[in-house]
Amino acid sequence: MIKTKIIATIGPACSASDMIRAMIDNGVDVFRLNFSHGTLDDHDAFLEALNAARAAHTHTTAVIGDLCGPKIRTADIRPQGYVLKIDDEITITADAAGEHTPTHFGTNYPKFIDDIVVGHRVFIDDGAIALRVIEKHDDRIVCRVLAGGALYSRKGINLPDTEISSPSITERDWECVRWAVERKLEFLALSFVRTADEIHQLKDYLAAAGSDIKVIAKIEKPQAIDQIEAIVRASDVILVARGDLGVEMDLAEVPLIQKRITRLCRRFGTPVIVATQMLQSMIDAPVPTRAEVSDVANAIMDFTDSVMLSGETAIGKYPIEAAKAIRRIARVTEAWLDSANDIRPKIETADGLATTAAIARTVAHLVDDIAPQLVAAWSETGATARLLSKVRIDVPIAAFSSSDRVCKQMCLHYGVVPRRAPVPESFDAFTDAVDHMALERHWVRGGDRIVLVAGSPLSHSGNAIIVHNVPGP
Ligand code: ATP
Ligand code: MG
Ligand code: MG
Repeated sequence: MIKTKIIATIGPACSASDMIRAMIDNGVDVFRLNFSHGTLDDHDAFLEALNAARAAHTHTTAVIGDLCGPKIRTADIRPQGYVLKIDDEITITADAAGEHTPTHFGTNYPKFIDDIVVGHRVFIDDGAIALRVIEKHDDRIVCRVLAGGALYSRKGINLPDTEISSPSITERDWECVRWAVERKLEFLALSFVRTADEIHQLKDYLAAAGSDIKVIAKIEKPQAIDQIEAIVRASDVILVARGDLGVEMDLAEVPLIQKRITRLCRRFGTPVIVATQMLQSMIDAPVPTRAEVSDVANAIMDFTDSVMLSGETAIGKYPIEAAKAIRRIARVTEAWLDSANDIRPKIETADGLATTAAIARTVAHLVDDIAPQLVAAWSETGATARLLSKVRIDVPIAAFSSSDRVCKQMCLHYGVVPRRAPVPESFDAFTDAVDHMALERHWVRGGDRIVLVAGSPLSHSGNAIIVHNVPGP
């Protein structure tokens, strides 16, 4: 078993039922639906297939809906993959629906021409293509190619020099939010977050709609870095979106930003995801590059909870091999982390969780000293599981809740194996249930030790940590 959680982006390469089952078999914990691609009908078809697969698996899985935000994209381009060469001139029109040829194309953003200014840079496809605006007219701009490459439909466009007048949560996003709430997705990701207020705006809407979807802030704008602490405090989960970050800011800063953000998330006990180009070459090749292997390992050493695959699973030739590669890298790296990780800073939690955080740290020290085979926690709301995960205990954490929803939302937490069960009548009944489950899954044998943690609703007198010996053979 590995502790790092794997997120796979859904796309044509992996949305068939047999592929979904194979991905779960190979350790994928969370699926990401990118609302920028595919229709809501496509996503519905995926959810149906996933729910069928879930019935046949004991491995708990969750779904993230990724909101597009004010992301500008190329419209349809014919022929697909038209190659732009350095010093070429290309026209971008205000018309998204019209005809698009090798000499001109449109975007999905109606105010593109209004917002942009001569001299500004235009980056396409996470910066693979770079243009500079040389002429501006009412209905079009003309650009010179600074860095060439193949131009495809619906690729992201970044305007690092331009002030975008579009709101952070667009009309289309609100439609997707309503869809996600109705489908009871476990997570919603907000793209291009600039301020903590945007997170609050989405959370207020969700609270009013009676939804307990957890909100993920995608960090990909320099403005977000400026107030990163407030954003981490406001969000349930943080995603380091290195694709757009590397275009909006100096690419050389991305590694440091990743370290800064993962460190902050450790301090505040917030789950964190590292994303984009983790195994990019595996879109076309069955094995990753050395640099990619190193990148995944380093993200785990930075205390990321989860590693996300994008094109590797959505459109790649080797989605299963990519998941397998992450597992192999994680297995080796986690072993190093376990032996190297002996410093555990105090977690600065929100109000009311200080005791839970202290218990998590205490359990971690107990595990270091007595080396049990398993930690089992009754975590009705998921908070105990989240904080136990953050202190990087080096044995699996079986986390129990009576809520199916809470179990699915535990899918992002490093080292946590969610288990749904009815609330036991007593601590003894919980202990028996843990013994039974752990023996059945061959996690422990008679005579092994388990550390049990529980508070309400199991015990009214308060929180308890128990060191328990599994009954002998
Ligand atoms: P984001 O900035 O939100 O990550 P993206 O365009 O980079 O958007 P990813 O989800 O990272 O999209 O996927 C990487 C690539 O895979 C995309 O550029 C797109 O070409 C392709 N892709 C992803 N999902 C789909 C899909 N459902 N259908 C077709 N192509 C897809
Ligand atoms: Mg992005
Ligand atoms: Mg991407």
